[in-house]
Amino acid sequence: MNVNDSEKIAGLLLADGYERADHADEADVVFVNTCAVRERAADKLYHAVGRLKRLKARKPGLLIGVGGCVPQLQGASILDRARAVDILVGTHNVAQVPALFRRAREGAGPLVDLDRRADSFTVPPSVVAHSSPVRAYVTVMEGCNHVCSFCVVPRTRGPEACRSPHAVVAEVASLVAKGYPEVMLLGQTVNAYQHEGVDFAELLARVHGVPGLKRLRFTTSHPEHVTPRLADALRDLPRVCPYLHLPVQSGSDRILESMRRGYTRRQYLETVALLRDRVSDLAISSDVIVGYPGETAQDFQSTVDLVDEVGFEGLFVFAYSRRPGTTAFRLEDDVPEDEKRRRVAVLNARQQRAQQRLNAGRVGSRDEVLVDTVTGPGRLAGRTRHFRIVHLAGPAGLLGRAVEVEITGAGSNSLTGKLPIGSLTGASSAPIL
Ligand code: SAM
Repeated sequence: MNVNDSEKIAGLLLADGYERADHADEADVVFVNTCAVRERAADKLYHAVGRLKRLKARKPGLLIGVGGCVPQLQGASILDRARAVDILVGTHNVAQVPALFRRAREGAGPLVDLDRRADSFTVPPSVVAHSSPVRAYVTVMEGCNHVCSFCVVPRTRGPEACRSPHAVVAEVASLVAKGYPEVMLLGQTVNAYQHEGVDFAELLARVHGVPGLKRLRFTTSHPEHVTPRLADALRDLPRVCPYLHLPVQSGSDRILESMRRGYTRRQYLETVALLRDRVSDLAISSDVIVGYPGETAQDFQSTVDLVDEVGFEGLFVFAYSRRPGTTAFRLEDDVPEDEKRRRVAVLNARQQRAQQRLNAGRVGSRDEVLVDTVTGPGRLAGRTRHFRIVHLAGPAGLLGRAVEVEITGAGSNSLTGKLPIGSLTGASSAPIL
């Protein structure tokens, strides 16, 4: 979602007459978009502005903008610590960036706009400067109505607001017309989408109906909003990819309750079983937080056991970070940092071994890869429908094409593959699907 916000800001600046600079030292304006989910992410802002301040000393006309969740959380006080900043905008003020830069150029800075506007979807889809020529992000809802004790998102992005299905379908149709084969629908809890009787399963069906779209993905799903209708949509809509990111956060009921996640360990496992029952070969990935206040060795072991039991395709493991404004902020952050790091390492090592085993079993199989990156001369990378990364040799002309690939090698985080013999004589003769 932050990437998509940056794409919106870049697009607005391009529409206002700016050109993209390769390096900050060639730029007239630099915009730093921020994440506040963990303290370390928030701290990055001050390091970035520190570097830009030195650049500004050499280049006095340089304007610095800061946006996203950190300003929304910390407010104008950022300007006390980061005096080089000229404009400060919140999560709902992206559309104001060009006008604020213009006023700052005229000497009106520093300028602050942190108001939560009623309509947060004010950036025209046509201006978004998509960073990938293959996969386009489409925000379908902003904000979050959950009350997870650890999470700052409801504070930084406000309550849920859903876009109309007509606007979403129109945006996807225009992206397909521009040549995008794949779209990823975005929302903090995307499967909680509701708009005048249209639920997320129905939204998927409508977007799936856009002629020419090859692949449809979405993220992030919340376990509480996984319904049989969503499982059926994953099963019945062939262009919806069989991959679901479903953060569990912990395998301990005691911790899940304190986190206010709204489900128990058993309910999470039942949700996974429902999905796997209806959608054969569904790839599921997850997020886990370790070292949450009060997490004992036994609680941690429950998480390890759950991870083993589910067999996730991918796992993001985070050390708990105490965030201001969250309900867990008042709990004692009592797991020592080195123990948090140890738990992160234990889970990561286990997960890497599991992924290595799963990937090794795929060697010799064939899969459809949508080429999304030219990684070097004659080198490509892409994703399977299950979101597995595959590296392969091939011509740059295959960018954006879906090709059938034979899997020849396996690492823990990616696969290698090759195009069938005889298909490399030119992009047009490759087995394009
Ligand atoms: N809205 C999504 C959800 O509810 O699953 C994801 C939001 S968050 C940007 C991505 C992940 O960061 C979360 O799933 C969680 O594992 C992690 N996270 C959130 N708050 C955290 C905190 N205070 N400390 C450590 N990790 C955190």
